[in-house]
Amino acid sequence: MILARMQSFDRTPKQIVGGFSGAVGNTPLIELSRLSALIKRRVLAKAEFLNPGGSVKDRAAKGIVDDAEAGGLLQRGGTIVEGTAGNTGIALTLLGNERGYRCIIVVPDDQSQEKIGLLATIGADVRVVPAVPFTDGQNYYHVARRIAESTPNALWANQFENVANRRCHERSTGVEIWEQTGGEIDAFVAAAGTGGTLAGVSAALKARRDTVRTVLCDPMGSSLYNYLHRGELSPEGESDLEGIGIKRLTANFAGAPIDKAIRAEDNDAIAMVHWLLRNEGLFVGGSSGLNVLGAARTARELPEGATVVTILCDGGDRYRSRLFNESWLRENGHWPLSDDLSFLDPTGS
Ligand code: PMP
Repeated sequence: MILARMQSFDRTPKQIVGGFSGAVGNTPLIELSRLSALIKRRVLAKAEFLNPGGSVKDRAAKGIVDDAEAGGLLQRGGTIVEGTAGNTGIALTLLGNERGYRCIIVVPDDQSQEKIGLLATIGADVRVVPAVPFTDGQNYYHVARRIAESTPNALWANQFENVANRRCHERSTGVEIWEQTGGEIDAFVAAAGTGGTLAGVSAALKARRDTVRTVLCDPMGSSLYNYLHRGELSPEGESDLEGIGIKRLTANFAGAPIDKAIRAEDNDAIAMVHWLLRNEGLFVGGSSGLNVLGAARTARELPEGATVVTILCDGGDRYRSRLFNESWLRENGHWPLSDDLSFLDPTGS
């Protein structure tokens, strides 16, 4: 059933929440009304860009820091160190400001200037490093680990291997999706950066009904599509989408109950980002475009009326100089953008 457009702004219950931490999660599940009507299947998107730090990574940051505090790994006045594409760093810095921790954030230099600038604005000690492969010791992941090892009273958040990340999605995002849909959900689709969101949500949904179909939508350049199909971590192609795609198996992704892997080209994901802006009024980033694209393609394989849920990971503001800048789009081969839904038909794999 397609919901009528909301008649009121009321979302009960009204609550007072405790600070930044209390404001994380319980995000709206937005029906993409136009898309749903066009494909005759309901596509619902979890509005993670409405978290107080502006992305899905607020949840992981809170999960990791709560876990470290409970385990006595982080004392007041301590330092949190992390290597990140940006959003986890933004989330950790804001949470650190609230709870009294300093943050050292290591970011590769191929991430958007908006995210790097924002990190500095909100008070992170930002270390920008060259974007080099994981096998290089100068990769942001290894640099962060070394900084944490040599800093007194420091916690390395280690979002890739620290399964407090996946657990927080299992306990929050996944449960919220189940409750918000009243269990009426046929499939869940998401890309993976650390894999925490996809693995955690999939586990929560499967625990409640194991026929919920869980789907990875991988960007090009990532290894997970081939890993799930052939057991090989062999990337193909490349992607300019930030925060998603990974060439190795992380603890957060390993063993995730995933039924199917699909992959999609950047140009189709970016076309979806613009389509969502113009047709749904949703201003989101590239990974959200890929997720909605994957959700729509998955929905079209299901019977009419099926419900597919995905994630709107962060807002478009973080990518204004790239995804919403014609020169950048042209320079990177993403122009012209398709302006109808023809991009729902896969051009890639
Ligand atoms: N989209 C964006 C923009 C992100 O920053 C991230 C996190 N790296 C993701 C999606 C993927 O989330 P996860 O790490 O939970 O797989």
